[in-house]
Amino acid sequence: MKSCPLCKSNMIIDIVYGYPGDELQDEASRGKVKLGGCLIEPDNPEYRCKSCGHEFGGLDKFLNDEFINDDL
Ligand SMILES: [Zn+2]
Repeated sequence: MKSCPLCKSNMIIDIVYGYPGDELQDEASRGKVKLGGCLIEPDNPEYRCKSCGHEFGGLDKFLNDEFINDDL
């Protein structure tokens, strides 16, 4: 279970980058994910805390080999 590094909340949602399909847009409208836009930057955060709005986790993932194989 992920938790926020600032407020320790576990209400964490994924931030999804790239062009969203219908399913993703639906999830975003229900607050299950956050759409990060089409621009993929190295320092984009991966998660968003719904309690305090803090976004975190991007750089670690980007430096991980798994990210490169992910969906680019
Ligand atoms: Zn938080």
